Amino acid sequence: MSSIRKLNKEIVMYYYRSLRPLAALTFDLDDTLYDNHPVIRKTEQKAVAFLQKYHPRLINFQVADLYRLRRKLRKKEPEIYHDVTRWRWRAIHLALSQHGLCNTASTIGANHTMQHFALWRSQIEVPSETHTTLAALRERYPLAAITNGNADISLCGLADYFQFVLRAGLDGRAKPYQDMYQLASQRLGVVAGKILHVGDNLNTDIAGALHSGFQACWINEDHRCFIQTVQPHLLPHIVIPRLESLVTLL
Ligand SMILES: [Mg+2]
Repeated sequence: MSSIRKLNKEIVMYYYRSLRPLAALTFDLDDTLYDNHPVIRKTEQKAVAFLQKYHPRLINFQVADLYRLRRKLRKKEPEIYHDVTRWRWRAIHLALSQHGLCNTASTIGANHTMQHFALWRSQIEVPSETHTTLAALRERYPLAAITNGNADISLCGLADYFQFVLRAGLDGRAKPYQDMYQLASQRLGVVAGKILHVGDNLNTDIAGALHSGFQACWINEDHRCFIQTVQPHLLPHIVIPRLESLVTLL
């Protein structure tokens, strides 16, 4: 049975476990601090448009083709998903080589395309509420970010809130594996049980954090019904509809 704390008529925090004292917070990035879908959609379209112009043989190449190649790579190398940037690079390299470019030309083309990808990937629109919330929380707790993605938050004004950012691939296997949670605890110098991880994904963020000994906060923006689908030991400590509900932790 959960307990409910009403903050105002829109912002409600649901408690499913009692929250223990906190000494630090970690955050997922994509779809937790900003809506990632528009930027990814646009970035993929721009990257494919770049490829279509890069070589005449790729004039008809589509985003769906890129996803087909990613699936093909994942089937052959199941662990490749841990480094999403490398996975994207490999898919582009494969696209170029399948269209008859030699290995060197495919490598150069994949490098150029990923540079173009990174340009658009950083065009993230961060809501003002995210800035307000992180600025307030930073006054009280050390903050760190843990992401499976490849957003460069120094380009969208979020980097200053965090002591560090951990990225899957570079800093360990992707969430829900415990690698980055354990590393975050070490680098913060805070035991796992005193860290609250905040994220939008019940598997990578909530199950991953709980298995790592963290406390967990799920952002349930769509008010999804989840009680029946989540095993009791994987229930988050708290559930909030919007990031700014977290200011009540102050
Ligand atoms: Mg996310």
